[in-house]
Amino acid sequence: MALPEFRNEPFSDFSTDAHRNAMRAALDQVQRELGREFPLLIGGERLQGDGTFTSINPSRKDEVVGIFPRGTPAHAERAIEAAERAFESWRRVPAEERAAILLRAADHLRRRKYVAAAWQVYEVGKNWAEADADVAETIDHLEWFAREALRYARGQPTVPHPQEYSEYVYLPLGVVSVIPPWNFPLAIPVGMAAAAIAAGNTVVLKPSSDSPANAYVFAEAMEAAGLPPGVLNVVTGSGADVGDVLVRHPRVRMVAFTGSKEVGIRIYQEAAKVAPGQIWLKRVICEMGGKNAVVVDEEADLEEAVTAAVVSGYGFQGQKCSAGSRLVVTAPVYRDVLERFVEKVRALEVGPAKDNYPVGPVINARAMRTILGYIDIGKHEGRLAAGGEPADGDGFFIQPTVFADVDPRARIAQEEIFGPVVAVIRARDFDDALAIANATEYGLTGSVFSRNPEKLARARREFMVGNLYLNRKSTGALVGVHPFGGFNMSGTDAKVGGPDYLLYFLQPKVTSLKWR
Ligand code: NAD
Repeated sequence: MALPEFRNEPFSDFSTDAHRNAMRAALDQVQRELGREFPLLIGGERLQGDGTFTSINPSRKDEVVGIFPRGTPAHAERAIEAAERAFESWRRVPAEERAAILLRAADHLRRRKYVAAAWQVYEVGKNWAEADADVAETIDHLEWFAREALRYARGQPTVPHPQEYSEYVYLPLGVVSVIPPWNFPLAIPVGMAAAAIAAGNTVVLKPSSDSPANAYVFAEAMEAAGLPPGVLNVVTGSGADVGDVLVRHPRVRMVAFTGSKEVGIRIYQEAAKVAPGQIWLKRVICEMGGKNAVVVDEEADLEEAVTAAVVSGYGFQGQKCSAGSRLVVTAPVYRDVLERFVEKVRALEVGPAKDNYPVGPVINARAMRTILGYIDIGKHEGRLAAGGEPADGDGFFIQPTVFADVDPRARIAQEEIFGPVVAVIRARDFDDALAIANATEYGLTGSVFSRNPEKLARARREFMVGNLYLNRKSTGALVGVHPFGGFNMSGTDAKVGGPDYLLYFLQPKVTSLKWR
């Protein structure tokens, strides 16, 4: 099967009437669906949990987005068993048929992209462009993995040997537990689960309790595309109850996790333990947090750099693993850059995601408390230059906040805050800026702005991050263009959206036949 070359799904252009009207209509349609009850999806059955929990609109705390079953450890076990049964047939489905299902799911979402985006606006508080980009990335993942499934199905050549014929093929692993975060509520679950399924594995997906409705957007697309029952199971519930079983169960072959460093470390440790009856070492990928630096050198185009630093720091309220939460500026332009940055940040308007404000809410009450706690710490560690308070409204709104003159070792310069807070740090020179940029436990993204090619070459060699951007913002990785994943405590660097990703979900087998 020859497919057209992969192309990124284009973004919507909300400056046009057509796209704006389509988005408004989708928001109205989804608004009418809010508050509905969703089931657990196990082995093709729709089941109830042990009670329910709600997901709410962070822009309007009293608006219920959906009601979800509280899955128990027993549900998690049942889902693993269903996935194991489905694996026996799914593993034998040819790659062409697996790819066709992914492509149909991509088409399904393409036709409903505004509706899918609207669920994100309501459930996680993304503005329209952020939500649209997440849906485009999701479509890209499906298209990408369809092609990758076909490529890996070709296997590898082996060196000819007299009297023997050897074959090198890739086999799926088995049941994969998929544990995503809430901040890319469609693109990340799909990034991990569709990769697993494309490779011939079966999946138990435990969505984040902050974004479960979005997981059903994916499940519905896969069902509409003809995915057989049991290949994708969805169990909502708490990380401790459901997540623990998904990590520890002896019949789980692989755990694919994206989320915080704390939870990632725990999952990595738990998955390493061999349970009674377990006959393999689990494969684990853990993609975790970041404390990314945007470095601005005195030889940069300052206006361009500052504009990009604002987008990097405050896009989706700073709730991206790739957010530029440190702005490191060399001494000769420090004052100038800081002033321009603060002016642009102060101009950012905060308000409900549905009304498409540039800055929306943070995800929930706990995040609000944590971020405001860091803002309090920042008031002692740096000079408050913008924001610093909750913002008005019925949701979890926080003013975009800038701390200036921050020591690179300060907590707000070292710990992931995951909110609209940027620490601005003065560097003596470019050497010092690179040293500061590298001096955290993380290593996810980084940006360097300079017009000096020698400095850019040094950054390329010495700035130790999984995704380095030169003269470009630190966020907005595109499938295939910027395969994504970080170093050190940012994770296992599995590079989703790249040529190696599917390999994590496969095991090679070599068969050698002596023919004489
Ligand atoms: P989180 O770690 O709190 O939760 C992630 C998932 O783990 C959720 O589904 C949660 O329910 C589950 N979980 C919690 N406890 C568990 C347990 N004991 N066992 C199993 N599962 C458990 O993270 P979050 O708040 O949802 O997401 C934000 C974090 O994700 C940030 O740190 C961000 O940097 C990171 N992130 C990283 C990437 C990346 O590609 N590196 C991408 C997006 C987000």
